[in-house]
Formats: sequence, structure tokens, C-alpha cells
Amino acid sequence: MSTICQNYIGGGLLTASATNFTPVYNPSRGELIAQTPDSDATTVAQAVQVAKAAFPDWADTPVVERARVMFRFVNLLEQHFEELARLVTREHGKTHEEAKGDIRRGIEMVELACHAPTLLMGQSLDQVARGIDGRVERHPLGVCVGITPFNFPAMVPLWMFPIAIACGNTFILKPSPKVPLTPMRLAELLTEAGLPKGVFNVVHGGNQTVDALLTHPDVAAISFVGSTTVAKYIYETGTANGKRVQAAGGAKNYMLVMPDADFDAATNQIMGAAFGCSGQRCMAGSIAVAVGKAADPMLERLHDSAAKMKVGPTDGNSAVDMGPVIDPLAHDRIRNYIELGLKEGAKLNTDGRAVQPTESGAGFFVGPTIFDYVAPQMQIVRDEIFGPVLSVMRMEDLSDAIAQANQSQYGNGAVIFTRDGGAARTFARYANCGMIGVNVGVPAPMAIFPFTGWNQSFFGDLHIQGAEGFHFYTHNKVVLSRWDGPGKRVLGW
Ligand code: NAD
Repeated sequence: MSTICQNYIGGGLLTASATNFTPVYNPSRGELIAQTPDSDATTVAQAVQVAKAAFPDWADTPVVERARVMFRFVNLLEQHFEELARLVTREHGKTHEEAKGDIRRGIEMVELACHAPTLLMGQSLDQVARGIDGRVERHPLGVCVGITPFNFPAMVPLWMFPIAIACGNTFILKPSPKVPLTPMRLAELLTEAGLPKGVFNVVHGGNQTVDALLTHPDVAAISFVGSTTVAKYIYETGTANGKRVQAAGGAKNYMLVMPDADFDAATNQIMGAAFGCSGQRCMAGSIAVAVGKAADPMLERLHDSAAKMKVGPTDGNSAVDMGPVIDPLAHDRIRNYIELGLKEGAKLNTDGRAVQPTESGAGFFVGPTIFDYVAPQMQIVRDEIFGPVLSVMRMEDLSDAIAQANQSQYGNGAVIFTRDGGAARTFARYANCGMIGVNVGVPAPMAIFPFTGWNQSFFGDLHIQGAEGFHFYTHNKVVLSRWDGPGKRVLGW
């Protein structure tokens, strides 16, 4: 019997009112480990009421005290680092090293939240008119909501709630129903860190839960990370209901390899970018563009490296390079895209369809797959496959390669491998996306920088992470004060 996840509301566990459930697997084995309830509007209203009631006291709590909770939370995350990484591996399937990366990048966000006293400072100017001083203060918004995807069970929720809470907001997290366990552990640790009850809540569910949150009049702001279709829907529905929204969507990230690149180093980086987390990353490098004479040496190296990758169950096996994909739906979707690529005329250089490690039982595996001679009009180029499938295109020169990358509807990341500073500069300047890598596989910015998706990869004005994150979770108040007094006359001037 698998357990049904409970919600975390007001500092305690509460059973959701729900009729539908999403299966939670250990993807390494294909075993059902839990079920996530699709919380209904009544449960959502209960959570919003609790978060709303907790808001006035939390907003009034001095920012240094709020930051102290985050310091204690960082310590607890460090103490429970291995345990959290194992939990991420269990419900997501990524390798232990990748799971540690998930937690580490999340901790960096909590460390950023510890800087709230400095980052929330406003501005002031005295004597803006005779006897009048002006200042800008930053105030929290109220009840904020985070809706997160399956691919980073710890990091993406941690992109949101530490900053929101440090700013004085209360928060409701609606995690992906495919990975509900890690967020629950984060909630427990946050309570252990001393966060007052009701400031952070977790409500599980799917579409109906999201719709109830999007339309609830007492929700002030929504942070979303997930696929582009849903991001657009969240942005449009949330803003139509008067909420502040930041919604990060899907991606298709290009990696250009110039003929002068260090091919061995580029191969290492591309392998990590394409097949890390089994290709289930919004910053996954899914298209490699080999420019001019780079094509043959790169294909040879990529093929050799893919053939050496050890694919297998990640729970309890640290020697594995790549784990499973999240669930049977993803497994079928990715395999269908491989079939589609073949029908579209791409050449299958490395075929991951037959990979099914014997020890994995019914685990959801697709091995590293590489297509060569991929053409711009193919659907495998246009769509985000979100699995371990790398498409390689061959282009004559840098300008063709940049023009091709700029055709994408998305705009998260793009990368160039070269020894030519001029080529790197041209690429960084003219690539039409928000995060650029030069001789770096996955240019995912650190917590202090914003996560700057462009085009259909982001809807909203203020991005997640960095100072933009603090701006998203606060609104400005301008205070003009007149205090009549003796002024300089008191000095006898
Ligand atoms: P998803 O869009 O299916 O789900 C994300 C969240 O939205 C989940 O909480 C889910 O319950 C909810 N949801 C899904 N469909 C919905 C609907 N019709 N109405 C209301 N809510 C809905 O995404 P996923 O499969 O969990 O995650 C993978 C996607 O996330 C990929 O597209 C990936 O690129 C993207 N992603 C983007 C970033 C980024 O920073 N841009 C980061 C991580 C993941």
C-alpha cells in the first residue's frame, strides 16, 4: 500500500479533501511509493486563510529576525544534506551527485535570503522640498504562491519561498504531484528552524488545485516554473485575476561548437548538458550545432562518450552516470520523439531505446540518444523533448549557426565552444536568449544573478533569483514627511 501525501498547513499535517490522486514512483524501479492528492478548492481556501492570518505578524517581524530563521534553515539543510539528496534521488531518479547539486543550488538561495536586511533597504533623500524628506520603503505583498515542476524537487521550490518569506510574505507551495516528498521535508525543517506556524504551507495537487490558487482573491502573487503552455496559462489567468506573476517556461538550448574549439573539453561539457538529469533540465543542451569542420571529430567523441555511459537505477548505486526518466508517460513521450526523428529523416548515431538495465525491474529508462544530420524544420528541433536526446546539426559558419539558434521560440540558454574571443563575443551579443555560456555547458546562473529566460521561456517582468527576486516579492511605498521645526534657525544661521 502506498501512502497518500498529506498537506502541510499551519505547521501541521492535514488530510486533503480530494478525489483524484497522482502516482509517485521510484523511477529507478518503476515502483509506486506514494500518491499525491489533487486538493480541492475547499482545501486551498483553508490554506489561504491560514497564510493570510499569519501574514500581519510575520510582516511586522523585524527583518533581522526573519533572516535569522533563514540562517537556522541553512544549518538544518546542511545537517540533513545527504538525507535530502537521497530523498530527491528516490522520488525523482537523478543520480546522487545530481541530487546533491539540486540541494546545493537550493541552499545558495537560502543563503541569499539571509541577506534580506541589506537587500530590502530602500532609498531616501532628505529635503526634497523645504521641510520635506522622502524615502522609499519595500513592503511584502501578502500571501504568495509557488507552483513548481518535477525536475528539481528541492532547488526550484527553494528559488521561491526563502526569498518570499524573508521579505515578510507568507507562502503556499504547490509542488509537482510527481515529487511531493522532498518539499514536505523542507517544510518540516523550516518549522524546526523556528518559522511561525502558517507562514509556510504546502498544498498538493494538480490542475484544479492550481486553478483554485490562481483565482483566490486573497492570493497576491504567483511564482511558476514549468512547461511553456502552462506558464502562459498561469501568467494570463493570474494577471487577469489581479495577481503579480512570474512564470518560467520550457526551453530548447543550443550549443555551438566552432572548428577551433577544444573538442575534448567541449565533449565533456556537452555530455553533461545533454544527458545530466537524463536531459530533464530547462537548461539542458538539447541541440549541438557543429560549425564547419567541427562536425566529424565532435560526433565521434560524443558517440564514444555516450557508449561508455553507465545507465541504471540510482537508488543506492553511486557508480551510475545517468538514471531513469520521471514516469511512464515521459518514457513513452521520449521514445515517440526518437521514432519521430527517424521518420523526419535524422540519422540515429546513438540509440537509447533498447536500454533497460536488468537490475532496474520496471524502471523508466531511455539511454543516451544522439541524432546526426538534424535539419532546422524538423519537429525534434522545435519541440522541447525533455529527455536524454541530443540533436546535432551541421552548419557552415557562425552566422548561420546563430541565425538558426535565434529561430527558437524559446530563450533560456545558449552556449558556444571556441578559442576565438571575437566569435564568443559576437555569439554572446547576438544570441537571442537570456543566459549565455562561453566554454561552459550549462550557463545556469548562481542565486545572486537573475534566472533570465527570454521569449516563450518566461512570462512576466521580474525574474526568479537575485535582486529581481526581492523586487518581485515586495512593493514600494514612497513616504514624504513634513516636520515643521526651527530648521537652521536653531543653529542661529
Ligand atoms: P508542467 O508544466 O507539466 O508542471 C509544472 C506545474 O504546473 C506542476 O506543479 C503541475 O501540477 C502544474 N500544471 C501542469 N499542468 C497544468 C495545467 N494544465 N493547469 C494548471 N497547472 C498545471 O512541467 P513539468 O513536466 O513538471 O516540468 C518540466 C517543465 O518545466 C519543462 O518544460 C522544463 O523546461 C520546465 N522548467 C523550466 C525551468 C525554468 O527556469 N525556465 C526550470 C525547471 C523546469
